[in-house]
Amino acid sequence: MTLQSSVSNLSLNSLADQLEGELFLDNTIRTLYATDASAYREMPLAVSIPKSEADIKKLIAFANENRISLIPRTAGTSLAGQVVGNGIVVDVSKNFTKILEVNQQERWVRVQPGVVRDELNMALKPYGLYFGPETSTANRAMIGGMVGNNSCGSNSIVYGSAREHTLEVKAILADGTDAEFKSLSSSEYKNLINQSLSKNGSAGLLDKIYLKTNEILSSAENQAEIRKNFPKPSVERRNTGYALDMLLNTEPYLSSDENQTAKQFNMCSLIAGSEGTLCFLTEIKLNLVPLPPKTQGLVCVHCNSIDEALRATVLTLKYGPHAVELIDNYVLECAMLNVEQKKNAFFVMDKPDGTLPAILVVDLSRETKEEVEALALEMSAELHQSGMGFHYPLLFGDDTKKIWTLRKAGLGLLSNIPGDEKAVAVIEDTAVDVYDQPEYIRDFNEILKKNGMSAVHYAHAGTGELHLRPIINLKTSEGHRQFRMIAEEIAALVKKYDGSLSGEHGDGRLRGEFIPKMVGEHNYQLFKDIKNAWDPNHIFNPGKIVDTAPMDTFLRYEADQKTPEFKTYFRFHDQDILQHAEQCNGSGDCRKTQMSGGTMCPSFMATRNEKDTTRARANILREMLTHSPKENRFDNHEIKEVYDLCLACKGCKGECPSNVDVAKLKMEFLQQYHDVHGVPMRSWLVGNFSKMTGLASYVPWAYNLIYKNKPLRKIANSMVGFHPERTMPLLHSTTLKSWWNKRVNSSAYTLSDASSIAAKKVYLFCDEFTNYNDVEIGKKSILTLEKLGYQVVIPDHAPSGRPQLSKGLLKDAKVIAEKNIRLLKDIISYDTPLIGIEPSAILTFRDEYPDLVSDELVEDAKKLAQNALQFDEFIAREIELKHISKDVFTKEKRLIKLHGHCQQKAISSMVPTKKMLSLPENYTVQLIPSGCCGMAGSFGYEKEHYDISMQIGELVLFPAVRQQPEEVIIAAPGTSCRHQIHDGTGRKAQHPAEILWEALL
Ligand SMILES: Cc1cc2nc3c(=O)[nH]c(=O)nc-3n(C[C@H](O)[C@H](O)[C@H](O)COP(=O)(O)OP(=O)(O)OC[C@H]3O[C@@H](n4cnc5c(N)ncnc54)[C@H](O)[C@@H]3O)c2cc1C
Ligand code: SF4
Ligand code: SF4
Repeated sequence: MTLQSSVSNLSLNSLADQLEGELFLDNTIRTLYATDASAYREMPLAVSIPKSEADIKKLIAFANENRISLIPRTAGTSLAGQVVGNGIVVDVSKNFTKILEVNQQERWVRVQPGVVRDELNMALKPYGLYFGPETSTANRAMIGGMVGNNSCGSNSIVYGSAREHTLEVKAILADGTDAEFKSLSSSEYKNLINQSLSKNGSAGLLDKIYLKTNEILSSAENQAEIRKNFPKPSVERRNTGYALDMLLNTEPYLSSDENQTAKQFNMCSLIAGSEGTLCFLTEIKLNLVPLPPKTQGLVCVHCNSIDEALRATVLTLKYGPHAVELIDNYVLECAMLNVEQKKNAFFVMDKPDGTLPAILVVDLSRETKEEVEALALEMSAELHQSGMGFHYPLLFGDDTKKIWTLRKAGLGLLSNIPGDEKAVAVIEDTAVDVYDQPEYIRDFNEILKKNGMSAVHYAHAGTGELHLRPIINLKTSEGHRQFRMIAEEIAALVKKYDGSLSGEHGDGRLRGEFIPKMVGEHNYQLFKDIKNAWDPNHIFNPGKIVDTAPMDTFLRYEADQKTPEFKTYFRFHDQDILQHAEQCNGSGDCRKTQMSGGTMCPSFMATRNEKDTTRARANILREMLTHSPKENRFDNHEIKEVYDLCLACKGCKGECPSNVDVAKLKMEFLQQYHDVHGVPMRSWLVGNFSKMTGLASYVPWAYNLIYKNKPLRKIANSMVGFHPERTMPLLHSTTLKSWWNKRVNSSAYTLSDASSIAAKKVYLFCDEFTNYNDVEIGKKSILTLEKLGYQVVIPDHAPSGRPQLSKGLLKDAKVIAEKNIRLLKDIISYDTPLIGIEPSAILTFRDEYPDLVSDELVEDAKKLAQNALQFDEFIAREIELKHISKDVFTKEKRLIKLHGHCQQKAISSMVPTKKMLSLPENYTVQLIPSGCCGMAGSFGYEKEHYDISMQIGELVLFPAVRQQPEEVIIAAPGTSCRHQIHDGTGRKAQHPAEILWEALL
C-alpha cells in the first residue's frame, strides 16, 4: 500500500483549525523535524503538537482520509531514523507529560508517553521505587520513545529492557478506536479469541489484530521458523523486527513441558519495539522495582587492548555487576579535547607505553561500601592473576557520576572530530552472546581492516553489545558506498553468530532493509501480516520494520554535494561554519530540562519547544547553508526565527558533547544578516552601550531621574524596544576610572596604599559595566587587592566589546578587540595579569578575541587570553601559591549561596569562585543548581523576550533565592544575573569580590 505524500494546504489548514493543539506547515518547523539523531533526513508534510487524545484521533482520521502517514515522536533521539518520515510528525513531548498514578504497594506507575525517564525516577524516589531500564539519553528520552524502541542501557544485566516492564498500554488504533492491552491469562486470552471469532463480519480492528496474531502464532510452521531464525535465546538484547518470539514464549503457545516458564500473553511485548508502526500510545503502565542498592562503586579496569577488555568482561560477570561498560582509547582521546569531559576523565591512567588504555567500567553496586570494596578487591585480584588489566581504581560517590557522564558522552564526543569524517551510526547496535563477543569483535575488526576502516568501541560489553562506529565521510559517494558495504558485511557476520543487528536502538530506516536476512523471508512475511492487521492503510510510521526504503536513501548528506566557501568573521579552526553546525548529531542533550541541572539550553527549558533547542539552531543553520538558493545563504528568515530565543549564554559551548557553540554561530549569523539588512536601531543602541552610558554619565542624575521614576522608565524603555516592566541599572555618580585616577593622584595614596606595600603589580580591566554602573564593586575589588598586597593599575584600554558581540556587530567588536590586544599585549604576563570583574567582559579575551582578530594578532591574542583572569580566578591562583592567607579574614560564620555566570561556567568554572569565597574559614559556599538566570545581557530587557527571561529565572534560580533567609548571602559574579535576581526576587545579590572585601579584617 503506498501513501500519497501530497495533500492540499487547504485541507491541512482546515485540520489545523480543528485541533486544540498546533499544526505547523511552515518550512522552518518542518525542517527542524526532518532529522533525529540518525544519518537520515526527510522533510515531513507537517508537524503537529497535539494537546489532547481528541487531537490525535483527528490526526488519525485525517491520515486515513488523505492517505498520509503519522510519525509519533517524543524526544527524537532515535539513532536509526525512526522519527524521520514524509507524513505529519506528531510530537507528544510537550503536552503528554503527566505521571498519572503511582501504586506503591503493587509497584507500578501509569504515565503519559512524554514523561522523561530520569524525571520519572526523581518523582518515584520518595516512594522507594524505580523504573529500571535506562538509556544514555535518559535525561531527555521519554517513556513513549523508550517503549517504541524497546530501549535499555548499561544496567540491562539487572533490569532488562523497556519491554519487560511495560505492563499495560492505552492506545489509539489505526481506525481511531481506543484500545487497552495488558496481560491475559490463558483462559482470558482464549475467550477473547473466541469472542472475536464469533463476531464474523462485525469484527472490529481490535478483533482482527488478535485473530491475526493468534493465527500466526498457532501455526506449527511459523513457530518453527520463529524459533529457528530469531537471534539465539542467550542473546538478551534483541530488537530486530516485531517481537513474535516473545509472544511465542507465552501461554498458550508454549508446549506443556515448557509451560513452567511460560508467561501470560501480553500484546505489550509486541508493541514495545514496534517503533510507532502499530498504534499511537497515550498511556503506559510500567512495572517498578525497589531503588538500586545504596552504594555504587565502579571499578575502572584499565586494559591494554579492547580484546583484553572483552575477555575480562566474561570474568567480571560472575561478580554480579549492575553494568559492565567499555570505553575505548579513542573515546578517551576525544574526551581529552572537550572542556567538560576532560574533567570527567580524571581517573584515567596511561598504559605503560604512554598511550591511552581501554577501560572496562564494572558497576558493583551493593548496600554498603564494605561489601563493594571486598568484591572489588577479589575481582581485581582475579583479573590481575589472569593477566587482564593493569590498574583497577575503585571510585565512589560524585566520582561515579563523572564516569557515567564520560561514558554517556561517548557518542557526542565522537562528533568532535573536525571535518567531514564522522563516527557514523550504521553498525553501532549489534548484539551477540557475551561469550561470543571477543571472537565476534575480532572478526568485526578484520572486516573493517580489510576495508581500510577503523571503529570506535564503547558501551554495553556486559550484555554483548558494543556501539561500534566506523569513521566515514557521508558527504562523498565513496562514503555512501562504504555505508552500505559495511552494513551488509556486518549483517552477515551478526547472522553467523546468531546475534541481533539491533540490541537496543531499533531498526528504523537503517536496519529495516536487513530484517529479511536476519530473521528469514518467512518471518519477514509474518511481520508484514502483523503490520497489515494493525494498520491496514499504513498510516503509522510506514517504512519502518517493514517495507523500508534502501538504507542509503534519504541520508542527511547527499553524496558529493557542493556547498560554497563561507567567508566568516569568526575563525572556526580546522573547519568552516557549516562543518561546525554539522557537529550536531541530534543526540538531544540540549533537550534536558532544569530538573537534570546544567545550563544548556535555557530557552528549551522554558518553552519545551523543539524549536528552542541548541539542536534546532544547529539544524536550521546546516539546512540553510546547505540548501538555500540565496546568494548569501545566511540571509534567511528561518535562521533568524530559530535563533531569536537563543540567549547566547554559551551553555552549549560547555555542555554539548559535540562542542556546538551556538552563541558563536548566532553572533556570526547576525553580522551576516546585518550585512544584508542593516543593523536594527535597538541592536545599535545596545551594541553602543558603552558610548551611550559614557554620554549619560556626564549627567547621571538626569539619567537616574528617568529610570527611578516608573512611568518615565516605562516610556523610555518602550522607546528603545525594552519591556516597560524591566528596571534599568542606574548610573553611579562617578565612574570607576575617574575615582581611580583621583585616588592614585592623591598624596595620601602613595603614603598609605598600594604603592607603599605592593609586592606585585596587577592590571585591572575596567569593563564598561563596572565603570559606569557597578562602580562600588570596582572600588571594593581594587581595595581588596591592595589590602592583599597588590598594586592595582588600570591600563589604557577600550571597552570589552561584549555588547557589540552580543548583537552581532562583529566588525565593530573586531576593531575593539584589536585595539585592546595592541594596547595590552606588551604589559600583560603571568606575573602581571589582567584581572576582570565582570565575567562576560574579561572572558571575551579568552573566548572571542582569538577567533575574531586578524591573523597577525592571533598569537598575541592567545597569549593575552592565557593571562586574562577573572577576579576570583586570580585570587584562587594566589591562594594556591600561598600568597594569600585566611588570617586577614573574619572568623564570622556565614552561608553563601552562589549563582554561577553561564559564560564563566562554559569557559572557566565555578571552582575558583568557591575557593575564593571559602577563604574566610567559617564561610560556607553552596552552588545554586541554577542554569542561566534568563537575563543574558540585553536579552531579558527586550520587550518580546522579557516574559521568557522571567520564566527562565523562575525555573530554579528565583525559587532558590526566595527560600533563603535574609542572613544568607546571595552571590552572583555577573552584572546581568544580579540585576535579574533583583527584578525577579527583590533580593540584592553581591559580586564575590564585594563579599571578600566585607570579610577582610
Ligand atoms: C547519544 C545517544 C545515546 C543513546 N543511547 C541509548 C541507549 O543507551 N540505549 C537505548 O536503548 N537507546 C539509546 N539511544 C537511542 C534513543 O535515545 C532511545 O531509543 C530512546 O529511548 C528514544 O526516546 P525518544 O523519546 O527520543 O524517542 P523518539 O526518538 O522520539 O521515538 C522513538 C520511537 O518511539 C515511537 N514513539 C514515540 N512516542 C510514541 C507514541 N506515543 N506512540 C507510539 N510510538 C511512539 C516513535 O515513533 C519512534 O519509533 C541513544 C541515542 C543517542 C542519540
Ligand atoms: S546541539 Fe549538541 S547536545 Fe544538542 S543535539 Fe546537537 S550535538 Fe546534541
Ligand atoms: S547559547 Fe545558550 S540559549 Fe543559545 S543554544 Fe546555546 S545553550 Fe541554548
